Amino acid sequence: MPYIAAIDQGTTTTRFILTDLEGKVVAHAQYEHEQIMPRQGWVEHDPVEIWRNTRRAAGEAMASQDITEEDIVALGVTNQRETAVVWERETGKPVYNAIVWQDARTNHDGDPTAFQGKTGLLHNSYPAGPKWAWILDNVPGARQRAEEGELLAGTIDTWLIWNLTGGARGDDGHEAVHVTDVTNASRTLLMDLETLQWDDELCREVGVPRGMLPEIRASISEFGVVRRRGTLSGVPITGVLGDQQAALFGQGCLDRGDAKMTYGTGLFMLLNTGGTPQRSEHGMLTTVAYQIEGEAPVYALEGSVAVGGSLIQWLRDQLGVLGSAAESEILAAQVDNSAGVVIVPAFSGLFAPRWRTDARGVITGLTRYTDRRHIARAALEATCFQTCEVVRAMERDAGTGIEELRVDGGMTDNKLLMQLQADLLDARVTRPANIETTVMGAASAAGIGAGLIEAPLPLGTTLTWHSTMAGPERDRLIARWDDAVERSLGLG
Ligand code: ADP
Repeated sequence: MPYIAAIDQGTTTTRFILTDLEGKVVAHAQYEHEQIMPRQGWVEHDPVEIWRNTRRAAGEAMASQDITEEDIVALGVTNQRETAVVWERETGKPVYNAIVWQDARTNHDGDPTAFQGKTGLLHNSYPAGPKWAWILDNVPGARQRAEEGELLAGTIDTWLIWNLTGGARGDDGHEAVHVTDVTNASRTLLMDLETLQWDDELCREVGVPRGMLPEIRASISEFGVVRRRGTLSGVPITGVLGDQQAALFGQGCLDRGDAKMTYGTGLFMLLNTGGTPQRSEHGMLTTVAYQIEGEAPVYALEGSVAVGGSLIQWLRDQLGVLGSAAESEILAAQVDNSAGVVIVPAFSGLFAPRWRTDARGVITGLTRYTDRRHIARAALEATCFQTCEVVRAMERDAGTGIEELRVDGGMTDNKLLMQLQADLLDARVTRPANIETTVMGAASAAGIGAGLIEAPLPLGTTLTWHSTMAGPERDRLIARWDDAVERSLGLG
């Protein structure tokens, strides 16, 4: 029986799965790694720990089902995007911890849209390029060593593939492969979205020597073969995608107008815009969705909301209003509406599409009648309203209507949330049985890259929610949300 393997190297855990060619996951294992926070706003990971966890998870999953390398025909990789590593070519030793995407140290005061035309990104604290530059500027001697070719830069996909294909020792006389895929490269601020190559001018401006950057390949192509010694020996790596792109691909959003929303700690939406890198007028990012070797790239618009499931966590952990995240559904279902309560969770300002750093959280419409059931319902509605804003802004940017939103992430367990979303968005909401779309997307990309399958792996039976809300009622609720948002401004 041939199996496809996939690594999902995420912000908190490293997961490894083995799936058959029908999308049935036969084995999995995962390990958490340490979140290193040397000071306020800084978040780091130990790249060596991540590489060790990757091998442990792979070995453990394979052993659990007595599956050997001979049974595994392809390996896919998906990863936390924008997290930046710099290491020594000779020894494989990182010169500094990985600087994580959430880390704010590279925030700057300049115009955030300065590079948006070429890269599709906002120049804020997220992209990987300025994080590499920070390491070169702050580790003694690093910049000079980078210019002399002694150091290599990579996002986590690059770091793992370099180690998998041999690391400092190489493999049977072959050097380890130093590569990345177009989706990860599109998160660096150094890649031109049209040419899909590193751009000399951007590299100069951001301060990253081009010689230390990996080669950019299509997401579905040959990246290399796992080194002979160790786990997964001889398995070809044939699919690599950043995590949000992997979820989009895993959800089968391969056509223009297909969109997915991931409801996790934050909310991440991607809309497939086909062969055009659609520029945003509404604060969305433009990014590469995926590219199959020999074919033109497919682009996406991306919008994110900072506070999604974390509002539920806040109600549970800080206010003690909920005993568990799942209780939000039980409580909210006990009332027909929020009795006029609106929560705007602008804890750190409002992101897409409003971009208001001066906003702070507010709860409006409280009366003596309000109880925790209304608060729970308002929290779920807040997630839906924020999603609606991103969807509507993307529709305006892309010039297309979104009739169906494919969803995944931990919050989609909440069926009431899904119904509210369909109601408030006035669109179909569909959720596959297997919501591990990120790792399945990586497995799908690898399977297609190895010629084993032709389309993304099936994710089981889909549940669908349709809008049951009358138009005037929706308009009334959205107007009340807009009013509450107005009241959240200027508080920060
Ligand atoms: P991440 O990948 O960002 O860590 P997950 O996809 O695992 O997030 O989702 C976890 C988030 O979903 C948490 O913020 C949690 O509060 C929220 N969550 C989990 N289950 C529910 C539920 N039944 N109803 C509402 N929110 C939930």
